[in-house]
Amino acid sequence: MLQHSFIKSNPEKQGLYGLFPEEIAQLFSPSTPFRGRQVFDWLLKGVDSFEEMLNVPKQLRLKMSEAFEGNPFTTSVTEQQQDDDGTVKLLIRLQDGLYIESVLLTDEEGRKTACISSQVGCAMGCTFCKTAEMGFQRNLTASEIVEQFYHLSRIAGNPSHIVYMGMGEPLANIGEVIKSVELFHYPKGLQISARKITISTCGLVHGIKTLTEELSIPVKLAVSLTSADNEQRSVLMPINRRHPLPILHRALKSYCITTGKRITLEYVLLGDENDSEIACRELAAFAKDLNAVINIIPWNPGAENEMHFNEPSQQSISRFCSLLEKEGLRITRRYRRGRGINGACGQLAGKSVSD
Ligand code: SF4
Repeated sequence: MLQHSFIKSNPEKQGLYGLFPEEIAQLFSPSTPFRGRQVFDWLLKGVDSFEEMLNVPKQLRLKMSEAFEGNPFTTSVTEQQQDDDGTVKLLIRLQDGLYIESVLLTDEEGRKTACISSQVGCAMGCTFCKTAEMGFQRNLTASEIVEQFYHLSRIAGNPSHIVYMGMGEPLANIGEVIKSVELFHYPKGLQISARKITISTCGLVHGIKTLTEELSIPVKLAVSLTSADNEQRSVLMPINRRHPLPILHRALKSYCITTGKRITLEYVLLGDENDSEIACRELAAFAKDLNAVINIIPWNPGAENEMHFNEPSQQSISRFCSLLEKEGLRITRRYRRGRGINGACGQLAGKSVSD
């Protein structure tokens, strides 16, 4: 049997999509454990109703139907948008009436990446982020995280990659996030390779230490850096006041050495803010002794730019990238996708909350 997570989530509070076969059996059919596997296989097919679970006895279907109000999903898609570049964005309603969003990005090579949320809103307060304006409302359950994958699959085709980079800070909800990772990776389930799953954090050092020391599934780690100047980062990303750059750097170095893995440093490029030559040299100094690739993300203001930032010009993006390359750093550049539908997370859900 799979070694389940070191941080336990509560199966009683999960929807079915947050449970392994043995947990489903334990809750609904303890004397016939194979029923858990049967139900799990139907869930893998993404069925909409318990009636479709034909090899499951009627009594058990009724029991589950009563527990989950007739629908194996605890969440539903209330709005979907598609950009000309293929980006799909979903607004998803939770059982308690709150909203989250999930995005599917298709890159030039045809890879489909599900960008999923881990919390409703976020407490981290990054000044360039739309989700931060909603404040923190609650953590998502593993089921609510996994269901996003299924909703995206049904609407836009199976995602090949998963990144925890939607709404919320995943390491602030580490128990449910790890449970969902285990479900995505489960060899008798979705079987998503650990190499294709990325957890993106704003830099919660204790969470990075937990991943370093305890995570048995070698997922990828990305850290949203955005400034390598301690003072500026504290203004842009308030988490830096609690976990300043030297402490973050130490945690990342330990992660790279202990796991032998490369990390990604995400750098949201803000026009006239963090795109200078000095900022570039500071970034190079921060990254030079880490096994890191730097991902440059030009800031996406969305349709209504209410923030006090400027979109970086093409010229400044190119200059910044070539300076980094001259410093000998590995970089990737995210091309602007989903612009027509406010591809940055929090823009749709934030609107829904305020409308
Ligand atoms: S960037 Fe991420 S961590 Fe920062 S406020 Fe937005 S959702 Fe939270």
